[in-house]
Amino acid sequence: MDVKRTNDKILNDILKKMRETGHAEANLALIKRTYEFATEAHKDQKRKSGEPYIVHPLAVAERLTNMKLDKETIAAGLLHDTVEDTERTIDDIRKNFGDEIAFLVEGVTKLDQIRYKGTERNAENLRKMFLAVAEDIRVVLIKLADRQHNMETLEHVAPEKKRRIALETLEIYAPLAYRLGIGETKGQLEDLAFPYIYPQEHSWLKDHTKDTFEDRKNYIERLIPVVKNEFSKEGLYPIDIHARAKHYYSLYKKLLAHGMDIDKIHDLIAVRVVVKNIEDCYKTLGAIHKLWKPIPGRIKDYIAIPKPNGYRSLHTTIFGPEGKMTEFQIRTLEMHQEAENGITAHWAYSEAKTESPKNTPSFSGIARNKNLAWVQQLREWHKEFQNPEEFLESLKIDFFKNRIFVFTPKGEVLDLPEGATPVDFAYQVHSTIGDTAAGAKVNSKMVSLDYRLSSGDVVEILTQKNKRPNQDWLEFVKTSGARKKITTSIRKGREHFAFAKKTGSSVELRLNIKDRIGLLKDVSQVISDQKINMKSVTSETKNRLYPLIVIQISVKTKPSLEKLIFRLKKVNGVEEINYKLA
Ligand code: MN
Repeated sequence: MDVKRTNDKILNDILKKMRETGHAEANLALIKRTYEFATEAHKDQKRKSGEPYIVHPLAVAERLTNMKLDKETIAAGLLHDTVEDTERTIDDIRKNFGDEIAFLVEGVTKLDQIRYKGTERNAENLRKMFLAVAEDIRVVLIKLADRQHNMETLEHVAPEKKRRIALETLEIYAPLAYRLGIGETKGQLEDLAFPYIYPQEHSWLKDHTKDTFEDRKNYIERLIPVVKNEFSKEGLYPIDIHARAKHYYSLYKKLLAHGMDIDKIHDLIAVRVVVKNIEDCYKTLGAIHKLWKPIPGRIKDYIAIPKPNGYRSLHTTIFGPEGKMTEFQIRTLEMHQEAENGITAHWAYSEAKTESPKNTPSFSGIARNKNLAWVQQLREWHKEFQNPEEFLESLKIDFFKNRIFVFTPKGEVLDLPEGATPVDFAYQVHSTIGDTAAGAKVNSKMVSLDYRLSSGDVVEILTQKNKRPNQDWLEFVKTSGARKKITTSIRKGREHFAFAKKTGSSVELRLNIKDRIGLLKDVSQVISDQKINMKSVTSETKNRLYPLIVIQISVKTKPSLEKLIFRLKKVNGVEEINYKLA
């Protein structure tokens, strides 16, 4: 009886929050009906903890309500395990609750089939999972809420299952939450998984940061009144100033990068300042810099240039009182909610605005949201990679590894894997640009095509008509998309060449060079050593930092051409060679 009352109370909390969000009474009635259906369906089941099963769907529904989602998502949260774990079928759901809720429950049920074991390449299922992402993100949000509650109660699960679930959380769900911009969920999922995956590291970190955390916390508590006082002199009255400790797992990763030296981490605790509007964000930044010296390179304007996942804030690290480095994060209330709830923050707003008498908030177009470039990308990948192994490989590299974010000359942000080169960039912009890439400028300076890009770089690709990709590019490209396109393009080029070989083989060599005295002489020497007839040599210098040498030769066979190119590449100063049939 007691338990029943507790559950009814959680339901009432959900209904209360829904009412506050602006949901109509009819929506609340639907949720009540759903709750009864789910309770009945699960009535003979218990959680591993011994509690009645319904506590789990209730916890999931409550989380979705807190994210201010629509009634269909909350209802599907309550029903999400009924098809998987009870006698109820998807048709029962459809009959009782309609197509949309049935669709969401079906999506979650499908995701439940996925088992990531870390070593296995469960490609087909992962592909399904990501197609579900592209189809409707609400399915993923239900699954994230489901996973979060399961992680919170993971202690009750059999030991051998713990690690697998935790690893899946770390490798699949946390990165997904990050991509959806739900930073808070990402951090929580990682921290929940951390002790199961790295138990020793986790307890080491807890022991070794305890004092440091305490010191920092006390320091920030002393600092906040000082900051408030100084702000008021400037006429600034923030909505909220609070200290925010770094999540354990992200701290662990940061420590790994700093030789596990806790003294080198200056943002164990950041001061978060929430203000009225964007103007106040910059005024506040100015006030902080007036008081304390900022550390160069640590001022980040994510308001002017948001992160690709939508995150906005101003960050700065200053030498604060007592000589302590201190990070400030300055944002508006709206930005704060976005950072906590990701893209769902926008849906929630739009639902509030469109809450019509008919009460049909529209979620159509979510998957087609142009801002979610990666959703588009997933769809593209699915088309390109018919082989599941290859598809998984592309996801692993392009989706889960660390990312860098670079700019096109027009200021668009492209999301690339760490270590990506101008060639990866070029192919991501367009395959024609990749195929015809002849050189690259990064931050207005010429760089080689295998240059390692860093976040914040402005990348410009110099193209050349009729150029073809170079086999060597395969040695350094990081994205599977680029690799695939290079291979395809080279194959097409070879076929073209094979055809041309029958009719004659006059070839134009185009050499990108760094000029030096004697270079041209060395080049002609290599050509005559190969007993190849050189018909003409010209150079193009217009709009170029270095000249392009164009040589007309005639060769009898493809191998002899390949051999020549191989030798020419070894000549000091020859950067890149392309050829076309004249
Ligand atoms: Mn579940």
